[in-house]
Amino acid sequence: MSDANEQENIILDALERFLTTEVEPFVHDLESKDEYPHEIVEKMKEMGLFGCIIKEEYGGLGLSTTTYAKIVIRITRSWMSLSGIINSHLIMASAVQRHGTEAQKKKYLPRFATGELRGGVGLTEPDCGTDLQAVRTTARREGDHYVVNGTKTWITNSMYGNCLALLVKTDTSAEPRHRGMSLFIAEKGEGFIVARKLEKLGYRGIDTCELVFQDYKVPADCLISGKEGRGLQQILSGLELGRINVAARGVGVAQAARDLAVAYSQVRKTFGKPICEHQAVQMMLAEMAIRAESGRLLTEAAAAAYDSGERCDMEAGMAKYAATEAAQSNAIDCMRVHGAYGYSKEYDVERLYRDAPLLVMGEGTNELQRIIIAKQLVERNPA
Ligand SMILES: Cc1cc2nc3c(=O)[nH]c(=O)nc-3n(C[C@H](O)[C@H](O)[C@H](O)COP(=O)(O)OP(=O)(O)OC[C@H]3O[C@@H](n4cnc5c(N)ncnc54)[C@H](O)[C@@H]3O)c2cc1C
Repeated sequence: MSDANEQENIILDALERFLTTEVEPFVHDLESKDEYPHEIVEKMKEMGLFGCIIKEEYGGLGLSTTTYAKIVIRITRSWMSLSGIINSHLIMASAVQRHGTEAQKKKYLPRFATGELRGGVGLTEPDCGTDLQAVRTTARREGDHYVVNGTKTWITNSMYGNCLALLVKTDTSAEPRHRGMSLFIAEKGEGFIVARKLEKLGYRGIDTCELVFQDYKVPADCLISGKEGRGLQQILSGLELGRINVAARGVGVAQAARDLAVAYSQVRKTFGKPICEHQAVQMMLAEMAIRAESGRLLTEAAAAAYDSGERCDMEAGMAKYAATEAAQSNAIDCMRVHGAYGYSKEYDVERLYRDAPLLVMGEGTNELQRIIIAKQLVERNPA
C-alpha cells in the first residue's frame, strides 16, 4: 500500500469513529434547533480537517482532492452542514494557496490549517449570484489600504468564521467587467458588519448571513496576488474545487438516502411481505443505487482530474450536476419508500429532503453547469 493510501485509510477510519460516536447522536437536536456545532467544530480542528488540502509546508495535511472528496462524502452521510463548515473555508485557503504571494501564503495558510482563521467566500450580492461580474461592492484605494463599501448576502461561515475571500470591483468602468474585479483576504474588523443570520429550509446549524461593508478598511497587502483585476479568475479556479466538494456532498446525501431506504424496506411489511419484495419499491431502490454510484464515479473522476492539474471545469460540472440531481431524486424516493414516516420530523429522511435542493443551486446552479459542460464540449471538439 502506498503512503498516500495508508494515510487516507488512517484518516477515513478516524473520521468514521468520530462521526458515529461524536456527531451522529447529536445531529437531530442541533439541526432542529438550528444550533451551531461549536464542540464538533473544535474536534474537527484537532483532527486537522481545516487544513486537509493545505500543503504540509504551510502546516496542512497536504491531502489530495481525491481523499478530500471521500472525506466530504463521509461527513455528509452523517450531516451535510458539517461539510459546509470546511468547504468555503478551504475554497478561500486554496485561492490563497494558488494565487497568493509567498508572503500571503506564509502569513495566512498556517492559520487556516489550524482553524484559527476560519474562512468563507463572499461573492453573492442581493442583486447577483450567477452573474458575478455584476457585483456592486467596491474597493477604493487610499494610501496603503482599500476602502470597501457594499452588501453581500447568503455568505456561509460569516457569523462564526473570521475572514472572507471578498470579491469586489476595484474599477467599475472596466470592460470586460471582470478586468475591474479583485479578490481580498478580508478579516473581520470595523465596518465589516454581520447584518443578520438568514433562516433556511435546510443546511441548518451552519451560519449563512447578510453582510454590510461600510467604509471597511482592508490593507493593500491583502489583495490576493497583489494585482488588481484578477479576482474573478482567482475565485473561479477555486470554484472547481468547490464544485467537486458540492458533488461529494451530493454523493453523501444520495448514499444516505439509499441506505435508509434499503434498511427500512426490509423491515416494513405490507401485504404479508417486506416492501423490498414489491417490484415498485425495487425499481426505486435500484434507481437510487445507480444514481448514487454514478455520482460517486463522476466525482472521483473530477477529483482525479483536479489533482493532475488538468483543466477540469467540464468534469467538475458533470460531477456536480449528476451527484446533486442524484441527491435530490434519492431524497424524494427515500421519502416515498418510508411512506408517512418519511414525512415525520422524528427521522432523518425529511432532513435529507430539505438539505438536497441547496446542492442543485450552490457553487453555480445546475443550469449553469450544463452551460459550462456544453461550451467545453464544443471547445474541446472543434468541427
Ligand atoms: C444556503 C446557501 C448558502 C450559500 N452560501 C454562499 C456563500 O458562502 N458565498 C456566496 O458567495 N454565495 C453563497 N450562496 C449563494 C449561491 O451561490 C447563489 O444562490 C447561486 O450562485 C445562485 O445565485 P442566485 O441565487 O442569485 O440566482 P440567480 O443568479 O438570480 O439565478 C436564478 C435562476 O436563473 C438561472 N440562470 C441565471 N443565469 C442563467 C443563464 N445565463 N442561463 C440559464 N439560466 C440562468 C439560474 O440557474 C437560476 O435557476 C449560498 C446560497 C444558499 C442558498
